[in-house]
Amino acid sequence: MELEVIIGLEIHAQLSTKTKLFCSCDNDAFGVQPNTRVCPVCMGFPGMLPVLNAEALRKGVEGAAALGCTIKPFSKFDRKNYFYPDLPTGYQISQFDQPISEHGEVEIELEGGNKIIGITRVHLENDAGKLTHTVNGTLCDYNRAGTPLVEIVTEPDMRSPEEAQTLAKEIQKILRTVGASTADMEKGMMRFDASISMRPVGDEKLYPRTEIKNLNSFSALLKALKYEVKKQRKAWEAGSPSTQEVTVGWLDDKEETKLLRDKESAMDYRYFPEPDLPPVTFTEKEIKDILARIPELPLAKKHRYINDLKLTDAEALKIAESPELYDFFESAVDKGGEARKIAGLFLSVVLARTDWQKTGITPQHVSDTLILQTEGKISASAAKEILNALMEDSEKTAKEIMEERGLEQKSDSGEIDAWVDQVMKENPEVVADIKAGKDKGIQFLMGQVMKMSRGSANPPLVMQAINKKLNT
Ligand SMILES: [Zn+2]
Repeated sequence: MELEVIIGLEIHAQLSTKTKLFCSCDNDAFGVQPNTRVCPVCMGFPGMLPVLNAEALRKGVEGAAALGCTIKPFSKFDRKNYFYPDLPTGYQISQFDQPISEHGEVEIELEGGNKIIGITRVHLENDAGKLTHTVNGTLCDYNRAGTPLVEIVTEPDMRSPEEAQTLAKEIQKILRTVGASTADMEKGMMRFDASISMRPVGDEKLYPRTEIKNLNSFSALLKALKYEVKKQRKAWEAGSPSTQEVTVGWLDDKEETKLLRDKESAMDYRYFPEPDLPPVTFTEKEIKDILARIPELPLAKKHRYINDLKLTDAEALKIAESPELYDFFESAVDKGGEARKIAGLFLSVVLARTDWQKTGITPQHVSDTLILQTEGKISASAAKEILNALMEDSEKTAKEIMEERGLEQKSDSGEIDAWVDQVMKENPEVVADIKAGKDKGIQFLMGQVMKMSRGSANPPLVMQAINKKLNT
């Protein structure tokens, strides 16, 4: 039986705001002491009142707009009730039937061509705290309780684990591009829940799905989905596909899923409108302004780099990946020099150092160095040396390093002629071979002249001088 895989994702991303979603506690709690970023509001003390963080709302709608969603003029918050030790309030404030946005789409690049994946909705909600289970009991850290999240729900449009992983990566890039979230997986700022089912090819209906909760990395997402595909395929082939929806967890160390609950034990969240928060409204003009702020998105950027700036596919993909890379690159291109060559120097020399951002190197440095090379003042290897030196001492200019280190190429034709004469005199048999049609000898002569000049001769001028002398 030929089977088709159906996958949908729910993605939670932490918004990059100064404070939490409904209180003024610091939102950046990475690496700080447990329970030091809390207040009566995020701890759910009696009588507390939440106030919506305007920055979180702005970043949330900008993220949603970048995912192609329609921003709704009216939305509201709802209480999602459940009891768990990581949730001090006893309910999560989320958006149930009227989210801030819906009906988006994201384009992804696949080997066989591009594909559009539907985004069902994007809404705002707060995060829960963090529990650490030890042999002596469970430790609760509420620093994360109340952190603003966007939940992105996709349509079940993906047909393989690889497609799901590609979409997740594209969404990470988009959220970074608009500055909504750093979506840093290592810090738990982006997490996935994946729903997967299968059906015979040609069948239109959807069968009961398995939901895999809390996948914390792109590789866990891929592995867990591949595992479920294999498991479900086996069940289908044995004639006994699952007849009910189940929720499972992924055990990264064992590389298998574990049953968390089946449909009968699914929670009833008893949603009701949040009485302490007014609805969120946007005027037509405000929505227009949000859309106008959305910058060029990663995939469009990549295509522009390839088509207009003549970068290779791999160069464009790498640079368009994150704001710190494309901001630097585009700024260097603005300062002058051929974009493709700037990309080459940036990727091969600057990015070769993992700490390049801390070195103080600037787009001006890269542009200046490339211009020196393009003008024939320095060789390609000298350009690399200059950039490396600038990463050691970013106070200097490219020209200063060139002069200090004597890297300027000799373009004095008298001096070059003298070197060429001497090399040809010392290698009469090579000259004879070239005259007899063995062109390879020219490279040898060239190499000898460069050696004699200790790399300072301008190669095109040396070549010109050699050709001139061979023809006389
Ligand atoms: Zn707080």
